[in-house]
Amino acid sequence: MRFVSEYRDAAACQQLAQAIERLVTRPWTIMEVCGGQTHAIVKFGLDQLLPPQVTLIHGPGCPVCVTPLEMIEKALQLAARPEVTFCSFGDMLRVPGCSQDLLAVKASGGDVRVVYSPLDAVQLARDEPDREVVFFAVGFETTAPANAMAAVQAHELGLPNFSLLVSHVLVPPAVESLLSAPDCRIEGLLAAGHVCTVMGCHEYEPLAARYHVPIVVTGFEPVDILQGVHACLRQLEEGRAEVENAYARSVRPEGNQPAQELIREVFEVVPRKWRGLGEIPRSGLGLREPYAALDAERRFGLTDTDVPEPEACLSGQVLQGLTRPMDCPAFGRECTPEHPLGATMVSSEGTCAAYYHYRRQRGLQSPRSPAEGSA
Ligand code: SF4
Repeated sequence: MRFVSEYRDAAACQQLAQAIERLVTRPWTIMEVCGGQTHAIVKFGLDQLLPPQVTLIHGPGCPVCVTPLEMIEKALQLAARPEVTFCSFGDMLRVPGCSQDLLAVKASGGDVRVVYSPLDAVQLARDEPDREVVFFAVGFETTAPANAMAAVQAHELGLPNFSLLVSHVLVPPAVESLLSAPDCRIEGLLAAGHVCTVMGCHEYEPLAARYHVPIVVTGFEPVDILQGVHACLRQLEEGRAEVENAYARSVRPEGNQPAQELIREVFEVVPRKWRGLGEIPRSGLGLREPYAALDAERRFGLTDTDVPEPEACLSGQVLQGLTRPMDCPAFGRECTPEHPLGATMVSSEGTCAAYYHYRRQRGLQSPRSPAEGSA
């Protein structure tokens, strides 16, 4: 537990907050991209430790939240097929589609199973050759290597009954989409440490230069996050916009090259639709041709449909840092973790869920709405 206690040390957090207060001379708005960082910020009240000039806004870094409704509907269609065993990580089971979720399909007889690794799904396909086993391959660059490994293993074994429903997304193109938006309020960015552990830091350098935004690779514990905020503010105050690694205990500049090679072997970069952000060019991964036989969409002839978002849900704005959960009229009323209207309330990494679990419990209000922020 040595590392956890060190990086959750209250005195160290207070010292960093004081250092930030001494550093800051004007209002700044910083976005943390990752849902895990959002949870830590809200859970530990880090935003409330910061001086009022510093506004943290939350980004689209929750893989469950950004999986588009169309893909959820495809998952529901597959899971309802009698010959299919549909495998997914647990978070996806409660994400609402248009009329139901995977848990409801399971309750009405669908063979939906929670797995902890895509390799478990490959094993299931070996164990149950009479079933069509489909794995829901969602997530960022962090989950792509394991999913690629599952594809390689199934390919090498020649498994005829295993396939992947792929909805992988890539962080840098989404960051660029946010930075280039006319209403962008982001002045500094905390990049997700685990994505950079796989991919390294170099992808962010053109973005920092093009949009003149400092990008600091940041970890997930309170001290990590405050160090990231401090490093980002130091650059902002000095007028610099560079990529900086504040998570060197995990991230090497070049990342994990064998993992990158595995991703490149199995996947190619494709356009991908993001929930709340729309389609972003070159922002997703799809199976390369040698692995096309493992593509569940092709195997089961699934086609794209246009599925509208529920009108009451502001998840799209929440994912872009334009609205805070507590500014959504449905927050904590029609929309709760037990009865979620949108993905940002369902997922354990979702921004709305973070505010519901931690901020409501303490009876605290949102520190500053974006409208009152600095930009
Ligand atoms: S509180 Fe619920 S309805 Fe409102 S934005 Fe969040 S998920 Fe959507």
